[in-house]
Amino acid sequence: MDTRELVIIGTGPAGLTAAIYARRAGLDALLIEKGAVGGQILITDEVENWPGVARASGQELVDSIYQHAMGFEPELLRADVTGIVGQGPYWGVVTTEGEIMAKTVLIASGASFRRLGCPGEARLTGMGVSYCAVCDGAFFEGEEVAVIGGGNTAVEEAVYLTRFASKVYIVHRRDQFRADRVPSDRALSNPKIVPVWNSVVESIEGDNAVEHLVLKNVKTSEISKLPVAGVFVFVGTDPNVGYLNGMLESKPGGWIVTDSHMATSLPGIFAAGDVRDTPLRQMITAAGDGAIAAMSAYHYITEKGL
Ligand SMILES: Cc1cc2nc3c(=O)[nH]c(=O)nc-3n(C[C@H](O)[C@H](O)[C@H](O)COP(=O)(O)OP(=O)(O)OC[C@H]3O[C@@H](n4cnc5c(N)ncnc54)[C@H](O)[C@@H]3O)c2cc1C
Repeated sequence: MDTRELVIIGTGPAGLTAAIYARRAGLDALLIEKGAVGGQILITDEVENWPGVARASGQELVDSIYQHAMGFEPELLRADVTGIVGQGPYWGVVTTEGEIMAKTVLIASGASFRRLGCPGEARLTGMGVSYCAVCDGAFFEGEEVAVIGGGNTAVEEAVYLTRFASKVYIVHRRDQFRADRVPSDRALSNPKIVPVWNSVVESIEGDNAVEHLVLKNVKTSEISKLPVAGVFVFVGTDPNVGYLNGMLESKPGGWIVTDSHMATSLPGIFAAGDVRDTPLRQMITAAGDGAIAAMSAYHYITEKGL
């Protein structure tokens, strides 16, 4: 069985950027993708914080990164990675298409936002339904929006959204936030923030963009409509790490711990992008991580004489 120098799991901005750097360093790199090439950013229609491109759809951006990466001729395997076996220095990457031996492995499998699962959510994602205030908040200048959730992310992002929105409703299923006291107090003292307590979203409605939410009061069962132009869902995010079976040191929730070289707790296994324990999950940080990880893999192979 051939041993690959670098196996990259995931083709989001982290994985594709890693492929560019790895191939330019002369590494034999294999990308593995189980879904659509490009990762999470594919689902958003407008990105305006990728340097050098004032505005583009996620699809356009990752298509250009993909074409760029494929110009360096990494191999691409369409498969689901189901495990990593071995004890180093070589690792076996187990996939639905068989096992691949690797000198180094890059975990770039990203993260998944938890969905509400209500009618209208999937259809209107990218058309008013968002999972990222930094990415999409600026599109709602002067409009009324709703944040769904009551944890730290929800209340902090609600405060961030008040920079743009004229009013931010926070819809929460309980009668107080789960968030820590400081961010909760900050949100509740902001005149643009209006909490909607004891409420859950029954559906998100609108023809080609979000027009209103249908809410249900969990105490009274009363149904009401909340007119908003945007809905930001912050009910949790999970790293895509199920296939690792806890083999790497991680933070609560499963976020992989790395050092500044993107090295994980196991030799020859690196992690990059949203799957990592990192303060910002964006394309630019994922791409930066991918570049560092690929060069770290190169130095690891060279130093170990593998
Ligand atoms: C709605 C939305 C809007 C956003 N807007 C912006 C924005 O405007 N600007 C910005 O910078 N960022 C934005 N982001 C964030 C950005 O998409 C992420 O930070 C970025 O995609 C992370 O890249 P990544 O390569 O780490 O992971 P991902 O993009 O998540 O890619 C991971 C890839 O790994 C694959 N994978 C997972 N598990 C396996 C497995 N077991 N086997 C094989 N393949 C696997 C997945 O299918 C996926 O393709 C947005 C995100 C969302 C959801």
